Amino acid sequence: MNVNEKFCGAEPASMVADCFTDPSTWERADAQWGSHERKALVCRRVRNETHDVRTFVFSSEDKRAFGHEPGQFITVSVDINGEAVSRCYTISSPPTRPYTLSITVKRTPGGIMSNWLHDNMKPGVVLHAFGPAGIFTPASAPAGKLLYLSAGSGVTPLMSMTRAAFDLGLNRDIVFVHSARTPDDIIFRDELTKLSAEADNLKVIHVCEGVGTEADWRGPTGRLSLELLEKHVPDFRGREVFTCGPAGYMNAVKEVLLRGGHDPARYHQESFNFAETVEPVAEIDAAPQNTEQSTGGTYTVRLAKSGKTFTMSSSETVLAAARKAGAALPSSCAQGICGTCKTAVLEGTVDMKHNGGIRQREIDKGFRLMCCSRPTSDLVLDL
Ligand SMILES: Cc1cc2nc3c(=O)[nH]c(=O)nc-3n(C[C@H](O)[C@H](O)[C@H](O)COP(=O)(O)OP(=O)(O)OC[C@H]3O[C@@H](n4cnc5c(N)ncnc54)[C@H](O)[C@@H]3O)c2cc1C
Repeated sequence: MNVNEKFCGAEPASMVADCFTDPSTWERADAQWGSHERKALVCRRVRNETHDVRTFVFSSEDKRAFGHEPGQFITVSVDINGEAVSRCYTISSPPTRPYTLSITVKRTPGGIMSNWLHDNMKPGVVLHAFGPAGIFTPASAPAGKLLYLSAGSGVTPLMSMTRAAFDLGLNRDIVFVHSARTPDDIIFRDELTKLSAEADNLKVIHVCEGVGTEADWRGPTGRLSLELLEKHVPDFRGREVFTCGPAGYMNAVKEVLLRGGHDPARYHQESFNFAETVEPVAEIDAAPQNTEQSTGGTYTVRLAKSGKTFTMSSSETVLAAARKAGAALPSSCAQGICGTCKTAVLEGTVDMKHNGGIRQREIDKGFRLMCCSRPTSDLVLDL
């Protein structure tokens, strides 16, 4: 099977019976859950992965199966102390098990959403989320031999990819090197160990900075280094690399790979912190930067579904102007990367400077990201 294919609805029928007593009442994932569509998810299970990481398993309240690509994320939206808070979480479950969807969340000290989820999300609780988005997927770079490099909660997209490849029986040649502080911090440790024992072509290496309470730890210790790669993945130069983890880790990985002679064109990364990776081209209310078509004028924007109309300056992003006008528009990163604010422009033109949150085929269909689009004419939006 070509990894470019969408994985929607690819599970064997027996899996359905495992999940639900009456599968006939469930609809398949034929209609994709759009990144701009808000869905109610019902929490079914909560699993402790480590002392500060939990997996939350959901099914869809509308009894539709999920469809996404491995590596994509959803945008969770919760009212916390009267304020709407949105955060992105990678779907850690594979699309090959489409009747439930999991996110795996690390409790961030002082963090609003991660602590709220850890403290409040229990079976039966409903969570609202916008649909899958993101281009950190195997489809973005089909390749024979893969090297997955992750650290901490950055394991989640690579886990979804690994689970999907395993479920589909692809027998892909994957080396998965995951870095953690100590053995107690390794997320999905048992499952990855089991998967690598079953799949001939999956090799898993856990690298720990220290041994913590596990004095008989036998794996490599320290940080990912060129020496470690040469020793455990001697053919790394011939592999397509997918990396996810904290910014410092990814910078180090990039440097190690470059030094080792790996082709940068075969390197793909996902950051969990937008501010660390993107150019600040789309800050809300920022002045336009070299926008050729920008006229400095005022334009009228009509929201076709809600009937709302407002005027805005060409120097503002549509998202910022819509918010000022009191129009609720789904959004998360406000940097043109997460894709949550993707909207069809029915009439008019905008100048969009995105950071990878929208695909060319979506642009061709008339979609634009409102957080990094400034009007160059009056607009009618599909909202
Ligand atoms: C595409 C994508 C996928 C992701 N996938 C995952 C995933 O699978 N698992 C996962 O665990 N995370 C994931 N994340 C990260 C996630 O979205 C959140 O950023 C993370 O959970 C922290 O959110 P929070 O609300 O708990 O913390 P926040 O409230 O955003 O706080 C983050 C940090 O900033 C500090 N802080 C907050 N406000 C202030 C302030 N005013 N002054 C100083 N410091 C402050 C906090 O103390 C905390 O340390 C992903 C992110 C992206 C972009």
